[in-house]
Amino acid sequence: MIELSDVRKVFPARRGAAEVVAVDGVTLSVADGEFAGVVGRSGSGKSTLARLVNLLERPTSGRVTVGGRVLTDLDDDGVREARRTVGMIFQHFNLLDSRTAAGNVEHPLELAGVGRVERRRRVADMLDLVGLADRHASRPAQLSGGQKQRVAIARALAARPEVLLCDEATSALDPSSTAGVLDLLRRVRAELGLTVLLITHEMAVVRAVCDSAVLLESGRVVDGGPLTDVLARPHSPLAAQLLPAPA
Ligand code: ATP
Ligand code: MG
Repeated sequence: MIELSDVRKVFPARRGAAEVVAVDGVTLSVADGEFAGVVGRSGSGKSTLARLVNLLERPTSGRVTVGGRVLTDLDDDGVREARRTVGMIFQHFNLLDSRTAAGNVEHPLELAGVGRVERRRRVADMLDLVGLADRHASRPAQLSGGQKQRVAIARALAARPEVLLCDEATSALDPSSTAGVLDLLRRVRAELGLTVLLITHEMAVVRAVCDSAVLLESGRVVDGGPLTDVLARPHSPLAAQLLPAPA
């Protein structure tokens, strides 16, 4: 369960640049096991919103709750600990180039102090889950974009999070790799009972996998709800963007 309650994030004015209200009073709730989408144009505050969910950014005001824990009430040590329940994947994968696929998946487990035998077991399980057991010794440079994102998913899931945040996770991929990664996300969501928050500017991605969606504009939620409801309301701003333009 993810709950944001009237969350604001203001980046203060700095070196001549004006103050930016990146997230402006967002309230939203994602149920356990739900696949939720956040859609919005560039600069609408999507990445900031994702970073607020795992407290990579502290909100200026408002409350963030994940899995029943009020993250905004925790100190920095508490946040670091709680962040293990939230995995994240990114547009540009953010893999360590010097490490193999297995080494990348193992990395967060090393940081979490998981013992060697257990680490090896989980790495093998995760690479198996994402269909890359045979590429465990490959480095990122030897993998396709879709394969790199699979490694990043395996890495994000290795620490057994309850929530997976996906920030433009398919935006750097071609259509066939996109479909493969979305299929994988759908499958791991079902197999592991994950809650997924998928952030994207691509309406087709939301339509393909999400149960629910919100539309973000200038840091505010301007439309949202279960996807079927949104699509049944053809005059809603979100439906207008999700539905194909009339021919
Ligand atoms: P994109 O689709 O291009 O990734 P986005 O929807 O993810 O955009 P954000 O990256 O969340 O948008 O940015 C929202 C607003 O906050 C933008 O105006 C951006 O310039 C501003 N912003 C983001 N991070 C910072 C920061 N660390 N300091 C100052 N302003 C920031
Ligand atoms: Mg972004």
